[in-house]
Amino acid sequence: MKHTKVIDLLSSTNTLHEVKAKGWVRTFRNNQFLALNDGSTIHNIQCVVDFEKFPAELLKRINTGAAVSLTGTLVESKGSGQNVEIQVNELVILGDSDPEKYPIQPKKHSLEFLRENAHLRIRTNVFGAIMRVRSTLSFAVHKYFQDNGFFYFNAPIVTGSDAEGAGEMLHVTSLPFDNIPKNEDGSINFSEDFFGKATNLTVSGQLEAETYAMALGQVYTFGPTFRAENSHTSRHLAEFWMIEPEVAFINLDENMDLAEDFIKYIIKYTLEKCADDLKFLDQRLTDEEKNKPQAERSEMSLLQKLNFVLENNFKRVSYTEAIDILRNSKPNKNKKFKYLIDEWGADLQSEHERFLVEKHFKCPVILFDYPADIKAFYMRMNEDGKTVRAMDILFPGIGEIVGGSQREERYDKLVERMQKMGIDEKELWWYLDTRKYGSAPHSGFGLGFERMVLFVTGMTNIRDVIPFPRTPQNAEF
Ligand code: ATP
Ligand code: MN
Repeated sequence: MKHTKVIDLLSSTNTLHEVKAKGWVRTFRNNQFLALNDGSTIHNIQCVVDFEKFPAELLKRINTGAAVSLTGTLVESKGSGQNVEIQVNELVILGDSDPEKYPIQPKKHSLEFLRENAHLRIRTNVFGAIMRVRSTLSFAVHKYFQDNGFFYFNAPIVTGSDAEGAGEMLHVTSLPFDNIPKNEDGSINFSEDFFGKATNLTVSGQLEAETYAMALGQVYTFGPTFRAENSHTSRHLAEFWMIEPEVAFINLDENMDLAEDFIKYIIKYTLEKCADDLKFLDQRLTDEEKNKPQAERSEMSLLQKLNFVLENNFKRVSYTEAIDILRNSKPNKNKKFKYLIDEWGADLQSEHERFLVEKHFKCPVILFDYPADIKAFYMRMNEDGKTVRAMDILFPGIGEIVGGSQREERYDKLVERMQKMGIDEKELWWYLDTRKYGSAPHSGFGLGFERMVLFVTGMTNIRDVIPFPRTPQNAEF
């Protein structure tokens, strides 16, 4: 007999027939009530084992974490909390679990402890919920773009250009570390390396995606991205997933419309598909908040926050307006910010972003028209000659979730910016070609996928929303 997934058993109305289930034991109470989970849903199915019918040696092996296969009769449940349960007739242990040693005991574990056991933490309710939500969100990303006429573009992971992230890149090499070939001046001779030049892991697929947008019209990337930034924050990973749409013939305003529509769509889709998991995560967050002092507690629950984002327009504010607000803000006047804002041109730190979103506007904010000096070379220069058509989307609890811009499509202006910022034109010859042959206005943005998963799950540390996090000094598993 084929086994049935727990999610299907639990929604079955067709009782009093024989079923087979397979999964892992969550708990086994009173030598009788076995809570079985197979990952298909956050809910367990209760399996009632009549201890008089089974040998004691077998009952002893029904331990938390063990894998079992069982058959029995699906019956209406007399207990509360579930509609149906299984009256077990046969039970086979597929894989034992030592109750003394199994790290995931049926009790509350700290997230730090679970991070050290990232290979087993997925067997907890909270990580099961997070990773099902993550999976659904990724599907929603593809669905949105595919339904709207975008093409999925796979940017290279190994890149030969370091124009964007000088100093923040991880090298890719096959040179022998104990005998590195050198040039006469002592520098490394990369012509002997695997690719015949210095190569790195990509920090963004944007430049390559732009070449595709200039032919396919609307493209998006969704792939792994690497940054060797040594920041031990709860929002940065060394390996993360980025989504980068790039669209021909749209300007910055249309780019903002796209980003807002896209973000709302994937949240809405996930709210519908992951109702049970999100209900669980909502309760988890509410419980967590109870441990905080009143003043720090969030005014909204997780589900309220998600619905709030769907129902309200993102507030669009220019960098210049934002600087005025920050300059006159209480924490600036009382010197509560670590980095005080006094002049136009200052780069915004996450404390400023969070003030704008969480205290001032109390909703997602899109900041646009940043000073050229603090933004990348490829962003389109405004008429004022000092700001560029950049936009960052800031989210409550997260800070920056999207960074994007209208791209500089004018060849001369682009070269001028590159020279000013010391970027080698020769190295980006292929990028400059897009501005030589049929250049056109175009725009795009990058959304950090894990920051989105953080927001939707209500988790606070980015290490908890990717299966096996890579951070400075850590690549275990
Ligand atoms: P931040 O200032 O937060 O470091 P950034 O300005 O370096 O971000 P971009 O280069 O614009 O970010 O990248 C686009 C998006 O990718 C960001 O808005 C963010 O959501 C995400 N992102 C950037 N760096 C990381 C990282 N190290 N880990 C996870 N996500 C990241
Ligand atoms: Mn960064």
